[in-house]
Amino acid sequence: MRKVILVVIAIVVLLPIAVVLSRSATPAIDLPSSIASIGQASPIAIHVRDPRGVRRIVAYLEQNGARYPVWELAQASSAADSTWSFTAGVKTTPQLRDGKAVLIIEATSNDLLRKTSHLDHEVTVVTQPPTVSVDSEQHYLYLGMADLATFNVSGSWNEAGVRVGDQTFRAWPMPGGKSGLFSLFAFAWNMPAGTVPKVYAANGAGNDVTSPIDFQFPKKEQPKYTVHDLQVSDAFMQKVVGELDPNGSGDMVARFVKINNEMRHANNKTLSDLRFKTAGSFLWSQPFARQAHSQAEATFADLRNYMYQGKKIDQQVHLGYDLAVTQHVGVEASNDGRVVYAAPLGIYGNCIVVDHGYGLQTIYGHLSHIDVHEGDMVKRGQVMGQSGMTGMAGGDHIHFAMQLDGVQIDPKEWWDPHWIQDHIAKRVDLPGFKN
Ligand SMILES: [Zn+2]
Repeated sequence: MRKVILVVIAIVVLLPIAVVLSRSATPAIDLPSSIASIGQASPIAIHVRDPRGVRRIVAYLEQNGARYPVWELAQASSAADSTWSFTAGVKTTPQLRDGKAVLIIEATSNDLLRKTSHLDHEVTVVTQPPTVSVDSEQHYLYLGMADLATFNVSGSWNEAGVRVGDQTFRAWPMPGGKSGLFSLFAFAWNMPAGTVPKVYAANGAGNDVTSPIDFQFPKKEQPKYTVHDLQVSDAFMQKVVGELDPNGSGDMVARFVKINNEMRHANNKTLSDLRFKTAGSFLWSQPFARQAHSQAEATFADLRNYMYQGKKIDQQVHLGYDLAVTQHVGVEASNDGRVVYAAPLGIYGNCIVVDHGYGLQTIYGHLSHIDVHEGDMVKRGQVMGQSGMTGMAGGDHIHFAMQLDGVQIDPKEWWDPHWIQDHIAKRVDLPGFKN
């Protein structure tokens, strides 16, 4: 009998304690994004997980033996998984000095045992934003055009370049061992008028600085983009759908429009992502060459209305030149460079992309045959394959396009030695370039 009572006591009294103890957890703390530096008011997010929620979270910055509270959770939270955001920096903690510091997070569980976890994260305090000084040149631009800006960044910085609207173009060290930086940048064909290109520098501590580029839009040089009706025949629709959506089913018009939108979008993303496969040097020294003896059947930023049986079924902007010569003509590299893509690419068919350095790349689409491989170095005028009509092409031609840091641009200036002299070679060392 006594044994039974003891067992009952054990179950009634000890089990709940055991359960509480076993459920007692230590909060797990992590920083969802990397924080390398702390500036004036740097955003910090902390992620805390605890099944019982948290009673207390405190953040400190510790530097030279002193500990400065920077944030505290206002009230206990029962949430098991939460992210809290706050800012920390020199603005609210003026005692901080340039140099190393430690960000310390303490989180206390909401359960009976109130276990506390710590996270220590080393940071660098950067009290001053970088400074930027931009060249004093007048930059003549138009929609779809590229240009080159030179500038200097001083102070502590880890990222710089040119920002145009929501697009960024990387900064590179000046070639030839000269001091300073430069960026090739584009004013995209669809960038809202009035957008001011700016040089920017950031130090990862929320201390971004920008400086506007002096630019002009001469009205007479702004190309007029044309609008065309493109008649979609049943034969063309069947060719495109059969080739690019062979296992699909359903309405042909819907499948065609889906290819023209979703696949085009995905293919353009693939092209744009090739910006990271670029050389940090000029791989070329001559003007870009246009495919020999070619006729331009379409030019850059043509607006196309896709007409089928008298109705407009779609609209797209054509971001390149359609260059026709004869069937299966040898496709010539526009300039020296390195092949960074050589494979089928949806609407572009068999496609080659050549990198020319500093984010500048040429694109060749609709080939019937590709004779180069990714990684190959090619020479200006070198035949890389044969033209064709693979992908969304109704006849044999080369879709020729250019992109700069992933933004498709009008190639025509790059065919012009005078433009290259005035916009590139005059501003940076372009070894071997002769106007
Ligand atoms: Zn084209």
